[in-house]
Amino acid sequence: MSLQQRDRKHIWHPLTQHKTSSDPIGIVKAKGALLFDENKNTYIDGIASWYTAMYGHCNDTIIEAVCKQMQQLDQVVFTGFTHEPAVQLSEKLMAILPSNQQKIFFNDNGSTAVDAAIKMAFQYYFNKGTKRNTLIAFDDGFHGDTFGAMSVSSLSVYNGPFEDFFLKVERIPVPTAENNVEVLSKLKTIISENDCAAFIYEPLVQGAAGMKFHSAEGLEQLLKLCKQNDILCIADEVMTGFGKTGKNFASEYLETKPDIMCLSKALTAGVAAMSITSCTQTVFDAFLDNEIAKGFFHAHTYSANPLACAAAIAGIDLLTSEAIQGSIHRIENAHRAFSEKIIQHPKVASVRQLGVIFALDLNIEMERYGNLRNELFSHFMTAGVFLRPLGNTIYILPPFVISDSELQTIYTAIESCLPIV
Ligand SMILES: *Cc1c(COP(=O)(O)O)cnc(C)c1O
Repeated sequence: MSLQQRDRKHIWHPLTQHKTSSDPIGIVKAKGALLFDENKNTYIDGIASWYTAMYGHCNDTIIEAVCKQMQQLDQVVFTGFTHEPAVQLSEKLMAILPSNQQKIFFNDNGSTAVDAAIKMAFQYYFNKGTKRNTLIAFDDGFHGDTFGAMSVSSLSVYNGPFEDFFLKVERIPVPTAENNVEVLSKLKTIISENDCAAFIYEPLVQGAAGMKFHSAEGLEQLLKLCKQNDILCIADEVMTGFGKTGKNFASEYLETKPDIMCLSKALTAGVAAMSITSCTQTVFDAFLDNEIAKGFFHAHTYSANPLACAAAIAGIDLLTSEAIQGSIHRIENAHRAFSEKIIQHPKVASVRQLGVIFALDLNIEMERYGNLRNELFSHFMTAGVFLRPLGNTIYILPPFVISDSELQTIYTAIESCLPIV
């Protein structure tokens, strides 16, 4: 029996309507930028498996680091114990994170990194004796699927059944060159009418919304206003972190540094589920007290799993290497050349790129979006390329190790899909 047939019996897939969706593709192997299926087809992983495997699948350096760690220490409780991989990872992160980040807290995935950040923000004020109950977030943001993360997300297709149970959130549009002043004044009103604890944002690029970009100057003004009002700024860099925007973190494009940051996805180079919520000394200090309950009583069983830490350490070493930094520039240049060419096509409404992220919006009617997704997906898979179009957006976020010819194959697949849209 094929993987497909065996899967159908017992497996419930994420983001899947099992009544209407086609069977999942059985993947048996991955290496570098390539995925291999059970029918001997090969696909270029154009989105690095949701932006995780940025150094390539089954990367030898990462595998070696994890194997070595596995023979030394596999897992230990992280309350009351510590270990070399966790300590070393904290040191490696301090060297690349914005300089005000001083403490790191371990979680299991992007959503729980966001939940921990939200709880930190609420308790920060609770510990100070001032209760603040409101969060601020962007329209069309995505921060994950647990309750806190879902509350601040606003991609409503998935949120419907749960909206009655959400945290209190006020929303603002993302700032653009045109609406800057309006958004700032909306934020002012929200701040004056609510007790705001924190503002959570995906800096510069909203991933799940379709790799939508917003104005760095606009965001800068929003962050400054939050800081003036003692509202904690939470940068959700789960997608943008670790080199994808051309800098280690998107927050580096901004002058105002976040108080709290959420990291996951590429953090562990695609081999383990782990996330980190980092924060400033000031945030951390608000939890210090002789009263035990003022500590942060939040834990995940696999906190700082040594194998995940080992993968993360090896990942950061690769990220900061000349080879990977060079590759980021190479991909940026290739994207730029492709942008200049593809924008000429009448079916292409706009293109954008930042670092290794490339996106184009198709010039099509809204009614076409739904069906088009599946048509495009099949077109790309037939061309040996794995991409996940979102609405009218086609985007590429390739592993840093993708070769020039693999990149060209992706570009060609995109060009050849235009006649069918
Ligand atoms: C993917 C993502 C999350 C959620 O991460 P999970 O590991 O899927 O829970 C949160 N924030 C952003 C910006 C993301 O891209």
